[in-house]
Amino acid sequence: MTQPFDSAAVTAAYTNALDVIRSVEPRVAGAITQELADQRSSLKLIASENYASPAVLLTMGNWFSDKYAEGTVGHRFYAGCQNVDTIEALAAEHARELFGAPYAYVQPHSGIDANLVAFWSVLAARIEAPALVEAGVKNVNDLNEDDWTTLRRAFGDQRLLGMSLDVGGHLTHGFRPNISGKMFTHASYGTDPETGLIDYDAVRAKAKEFKPLILMAGYSAYPRKVNFATMREIADEVGATLIVDMAHFAGLVAGKVFTGDFNPVPFAHITTTTTHKSLRGPRGGAVLAQPEFAEFVDKGCPMVLGGPLSHVMAAKAVAFAEARTPQFQTYAHNVADNAVALAEGLSKRGGTLVTGGTENHLVLLDVSSFGITGRQAESALVDSGIVTNRNSVPQDPNGAWYTSGIRLGTPALTARGFGRDEFDRTAELIVDVLTATSPVAASSGGVSKAKYDLPSDVAAKTRAAAAEILDANPLYPGLTLN
Ligand SMILES: *Cc1c(COP(=O)(O)O)cnc(C)c1O
Repeated sequence: MTQPFDSAAVTAAYTNALDVIRSVEPRVAGAITQELADQRSSLKLIASENYASPAVLLTMGNWFSDKYAEGTVGHRFYAGCQNVDTIEALAAEHARELFGAPYAYVQPHSGIDANLVAFWSVLAARIEAPALVEAGVKNVNDLNEDDWTTLRRAFGDQRLLGMSLDVGGHLTHGFRPNISGKMFTHASYGTDPETGLIDYDAVRAKAKEFKPLILMAGYSAYPRKVNFATMREIADEVGATLIVDMAHFAGLVAGKVFTGDFNPVPFAHITTTTTHKSLRGPRGGAVLAQPEFAEFVDKGCPMVLGGPLSHVMAAKAVAFAEARTPQFQTYAHNVADNAVALAEGLSKRGGTLVTGGTENHLVLLDVSSFGITGRQAESALVDSGIVTNRNSVPQDPNGAWYTSGIRLGTPALTARGFGRDEFDRTAELIVDVLTATSPVAASSGGVSKAKYDLPSDVAAKTRAAAAEILDANPLYPGLTLN
C-alpha cells in the first residue's frame, strides 16, 4: 500500500469494532467482513474506484457523525461546534496547500453536490435573478417543464457548455437526467472524430457561437490530458466562467502528474472534485475557487447541501494530509505509468483504444474488434474475476446501454502495489477473455447484444491467474479478520 500502516494495530481496531457491531446486528458485521474478502479477490479496474488507507477509513467511524454543524468555520447555526471547526479548518487548509488553491470548501457530500454548489455560486455571483416567486415558481416538487423554463428565464436563460456525454463528459455537466440540465440551456463540445482528441478550435468556435455563462471542462471517460490554460483563454474570450470538474483525476493533480497547463486549479474560476476516486480519500466532494467566488461557495450549506458530514470532513483532512506526502506523488505517477503499460499491453495484443492510448489513469477499449458489445465484454470479464464497466465510445453504434467499449482504470490496483508487469499481465488476461467471448443468437432473431458465450475453462483459468497476481499484491497487507 502507498501509506505504510501498523497492521497489528489495524487488525486489532477492526477486530474489536466488528465485535461491537456483531453484538447488535451480526449480519452487518458479516457483510463488512465479506466485502473485504470480495474486494481482495477481484481485479478491480473500475476507473472511479480506489482503496482508501486504514487511517482514512477509521477516521469516519466516530462521534463527529453525531454533530450538526450547518454554516462555516466560526459561523455555525448550532452550538458546540468547536471540534468540527478544528477539523473543517484543517481539511480546508490541507486542500488549499495540496492544490495551491486560494480557497477550499470541504463540505460537499459528493461530486454532484460539489457541482451544484459551484453552479449556484456562479449564478449568485454573476446573475441578478428577479425574484423567483414573481416568476411563478411554486414548490420545487411541483415543477413541470414550463416551470423549469420559467426558472431558467428567471436567471436570464443562462447557458452551460460542457463536454459531450458521448465522448466522456459527465451527467452533471448539463444533461437532462441531472438538475444541471434543467437549470441551464445546454450545449456540448465533442472530440475530433479522427483522433478522438478535444479539438480546441472547435470548442472555441462553439463557445463563440453559444456564448455560455459557464464553460465546463472535466470528464469521466476521456483518456487524455486537457489543456486548461487553453480552456481558460476560451472562457475569457467569450466572458464565461470556467468550472473544471476534476472528480476523476484529482489524484493526478495532487500527485503532480498534471502540472503547468494541465493543472486546472490556477486556470479555473472554480474547480470541483470528488475525494474518493484517484485521490484515495473518503466518499465525498470538495470545491476550490478563486477568491471572488468564496463567499458564494461558502453558502453551499444550507443553499443546496444538508448539514456537513463532519466525520467525513475529518477523513478528508487525513486523506489530504496523506496526499501531500512524497509517497502519494510516487503513487500518482505510478497510476499514470501503469495506465500506459495497460494501454500498450492491450494494443500490442490487437486491442483498439479510443485516442490510441492514454495520458491519465484510464484506458477506453473499443471491444467491437472482438465482435462483442461493451455489455458482453463487461459480463464475460466479471465471470473471469475482472471488474470493469462498459462505456460508450465516440459515435457508439450500440448506444449508451449496450455500448461498444469498456473503461479500465489503474488507481485501485496501483494502490495494491501493481506495477507495469502486473498491468501487462492484466491486459493479457483481458484480451484472452474477450477473444474467447462470442455473442449468441437473440431470441428475437439476429445476434444478441447482451447474451454471450464464454467457455468455462477460460473463465476458470483467468480467475486463477488473477488470483495469483492479487495474492502477490495483497489489499491491506497484514490485516486479518476472522
Ligand atoms: C464521479 C463524478 C461525479 C460525481 O461524483 P459523485 O460523488 O458520485 O456524486 C461528478 N463529476 C465527474 C466528472 C465524475 O466523474
